Amino acid sequence: MQTTLESVHARDCGTCSLCCKVYDVPSVQSVAGVWCQYFKRGTGCSIHATRPQHCRDFFCDWILHPELPDTWKPEIAKFVLTTDPATRNMIVQVDPGARGAWRAEPYYSQIKAWSRLALEQKRSVFVFVNKNLTVVLPDRDVELGQMKPDETVRFRRETRNGRDHIEVWKEQVNAPPPQSFNAFTATMR
Ligand code: SF4
Ligand code: SF4
Repeated sequence: MQTTLESVHARDCGTCSLCCKVYDVPSVQSVAGVWCQYFKRGTGCSIHATRPQHCRDFFCDWILHPELPDTWKPEIAKFVLTTDPATRNMIVQVDPGARGAWRAEPYYSQIKAWSRLALEQKRSVFVFVNKNLTVVLPDRDVELGQMKPDETVRFRRETRNGRDHIEVWKEQVNAPPPQSFNAFTATMR
C-alpha cells in the first residue's frame, strides 16, 4: 500500500503491493483476495495522494523488522506478516493465488518456531487465506474454516498420556470462556 514510503522505516515497499490484495479495505470497497480497484500493475496505487488513512498507516512486519530476510518480503513470500499491536498474535495473510506458500521453506519451520514461542506467552500464530483460518500449533495445524466477525478462538492446554496437548476451537465471542487455569482466548482482529 506504500508505493512511496513516507516514514522513517528502514525499508521501502519497492515493487511490492500485496497488502492491496489480501485485506478488506472497506473505505475503497476492497475485499480480501481481490486486487483493490485502485491498484494498477506496474505503477501501484492510482489514488496514492488521496488513499485512505488505513492504507497510509499500514506497515507489514517485513517493513517494521529489518532482521527479516528479503525472502520474507511479501511479494516474494506470497503472504503478508503482521503482529497485532494489542494482542501480539502473529497473522500470516496469504495470497489466495498461492495459498500453500506459507508451508514452503524457509517459512514453515520459522512459523512453527514462532508458534511454540507464542503459546508459551498465551498468544498464537494465525494463518488466513481470505477469511479462512488455520491455527498453527507446534505439533499440527488446525483448520477452523471461515471466521465470522463475532467469533473468536479458544485454547486449552492439558496433559494427555503424559504429553502436552493443545485443544483449539472457535466459538461466539460472547460465549463464556472456558473455566480452566490452562485455557485462554486469542482475541481476533
Ligand atoms: S487505495 Fe491504494 S493503497 Fe489502498 S488498498 Fe487500494 S490500491 Fe492499495
Ligand atoms: S505488504 Fe508490506 S512491503 Fe508489501 S506493499 Fe504492503 S507494506 Fe509494503
